[in-house]
Amino acid sequence: MMMRLLFWIALGILVVFAIRSKLRGSLPRQSGPGAPRDVQGEGEGEGGQGERMVSCAHCHLYFPASEAVRADGLDYCSPAHVRLPAR
Ligand SMILES: [Zn+2]
Repeated sequence: MMMRLLFWIALGILVVFAIRSKLRGSLPRQSGPGAPRDVQGEGEGEGGQGERMVSCAHCHLYFPASEAVRADGLDYCSPAHVRLPAR
């Protein structure tokens, strides 16, 4: 009699653990890490809060527009590249 009771208790604990591990394993995958949004920001996204990215007229390196050095209507990554010809 006692063994049968212990068996059912053990079974119940096992079921609870199985459900818990199942929930824990599936939930993070459903919500996702939220990475796609960051990847999208690398292009020419017109996001309100994201900073605009411009490319250097000489080396074509991408960097935030606030760090750009403007000369003759072109954006450069650094003052050194302003003196170099645009490619
Ligand atoms: Zn440059």
